[in-house]
Amino acid sequence: MTFSIHGLAVARGIAIGRAVLVASSRVDVAHYFIQPDQVGAEIDRLRKARNAVVEELTRLQNELNADAPPELGALLDVHLMLLEDETLSLSVKHWIETRLYNAEWALSSQMEVIGRQFDEMEDAYLRERKSDLEQVTERVLHFLKGGNAHVVRTKPQARPQQELQLGDTLDVPLVLVAHDLSPADMLQFKQSVFTGFVTDVGGKTSHTAIVARSLDIPAVVGARSASQLIRQDDWIIIDGDAGVVIVDPSSIILAEYGFKQRQGDLERERLTRLRHTPSVTLDGQKIELLANIEMPEDANAALLVGAVGVGLFRSEFLFMGRQGNLPDEEEQFEQYRRAVEGMKGLPVTIRTVDVGADKPLDEARHDAAHLNPALGLRAIRWSLADPEMFLTQLRAILRAAALGKVNLLVPMLAHASEIHQTLALLKQAQLDLDARGVAYGPVQLGAMIEIPAAAMSLKLFLKHFDYLSIGTNDLIQYTLAIDRADESVAHLYDPLHPAVLRLVADTIAEGAAQGKSVSVCGEMAGDVSMTRLLLGMGLKSFSMHPSQVLQVKQQILRSDTEKLKAFAQQVLESDDPSSLMNN
Ligand code: PEP
Ligand code: MG
Repeated sequence: MTFSIHGLAVARGIAIGRAVLVASSRVDVAHYFIQPDQVGAEIDRLRKARNAVVEELTRLQNELNADAPPELGALLDVHLMLLEDETLSLSVKHWIETRLYNAEWALSSQMEVIGRQFDEMEDAYLRERKSDLEQVTERVLHFLKGGNAHVVRTKPQARPQQELQLGDTLDVPLVLVAHDLSPADMLQFKQSVFTGFVTDVGGKTSHTAIVARSLDIPAVVGARSASQLIRQDDWIIIDGDAGVVIVDPSSIILAEYGFKQRQGDLERERLTRLRHTPSVTLDGQKIELLANIEMPEDANAALLVGAVGVGLFRSEFLFMGRQGNLPDEEEQFEQYRRAVEGMKGLPVTIRTVDVGADKPLDEARHDAAHLNPALGLRAIRWSLADPEMFLTQLRAILRAAALGKVNLLVPMLAHASEIHQTLALLKQAQLDLDARGVAYGPVQLGAMIEIPAAAMSLKLFLKHFDYLSIGTNDLIQYTLAIDRADESVAHLYDPLHPAVLRLVADTIAEGAAQGKSVSVCGEMAGDVSMTRLLLGMGLKSFSMHPSQVLQVKQQILRSDTEKLKAFAQQVLESDDPSSLMNN
């Protein structure tokens, strides 16, 4: 039966594919694709893990004392029975053979399927046997983990055409459905085969949504109970423009969305022709279009769309998911070098690490324990709390600046004391490198304006920094007291709130008055419905995901900034700016 689930639209386009539900197990499950020639070995690995659990349980059963409660023996019987169930092992094998899932993934997928069947049982006793199934699965997963700890989530290499057989399901597009995905998980999925994403949680500018957008595949977040309602292997359509997920679509709906998908592809194709067109308005204003990247290899995508530099390299992604082993100076230098060289002489703005809140270093250290992570030890606060770590990063960035044009950007500053400490540490990093005789280059120093307090103390910032970059994602979050990652207040997250617009407009105007460059690098910069307004406010530099650059450029080419000034003024004076936006 067809039904739809509504969430938040975060990455445009249509994806149609079979659902892959992940991370529903209580155990951390590795998801990766194996190569076709590894199928036999993977099934063997699974068999060995299962046998090990059978052995363990049999031993426990034999060792039971005569006075042990009879329920205990009966429970072990149930577990052994589940383990020896032929249908279960055949179904798990099926996932490995047809989808090339690794053993853990195959097992947890099948566990998901059977778990739902248990949930639907009328008999309460039978329904409760689900927990036995979970326990047994977790035991096997535990053994599998011991046997092979590595986690690589990469594409299976394409099989030679002649090897593909009729009915082969390998070529079926897959879409990922999860309760939540950490930004680090999302990055790993970058190299995966998924053609779309759905998550239960997350706001429009949560970091998971931002990474989803950077993958340039259709995604819906904040879809509440999607991971409960969608079953493993269901056909689903993700409408990334409308924020809708259609489950089990009829053939008429499928045909309609298939058409929309092709239209979207054509539109993208058409836009690529603008790649080399200079970004100039009708009245001759040159507008700088920069890219936001998360990893050095994203530089390629930036060049492909004709971005004239990187306006935001979110360096924190190099720090995540490493169980506390933070990258040292050499490793960081290597990554920054790759980004700088990848941009082939164009400038790269490296933002110092911004972890905390919805960008935890790793799951184990997730700061859920903190009362209010978004207001806690995040970004520059975190860096200043650990000067050695910060100095290491600053040295690595300065060294990369010897190889090309590098701008340094500092997130979440609010206090004069933070500015002074940052400047002092930057000086210290230069002295350290001098003492070691290591080459480094000059950097332009920028501050992110993403806390209202900063937007209201611009003189202080303009005195110390060469340029400003407005982080609208956080500026909106902190101005409106809306957690950007919380879908339950997502409807209040309003880029067009008069207070937000006032802070953005003042920052642009103040920077221009002092002859300093101001950029917007939050999601607002890549939102094409905002382009005219930002141009009218006098913005000359936009930084966004590579996937958004060409659409925004198209809008710029059609705009006249002189005419837009009056429009922006009108919007700024309105109590209801959104009512003016479509005119
Ligand atoms: C922002 O806050 O707008 C921004 C660009 O930084 P991030 O999204 O990484 O917090
Ligand atoms: Mg920010």
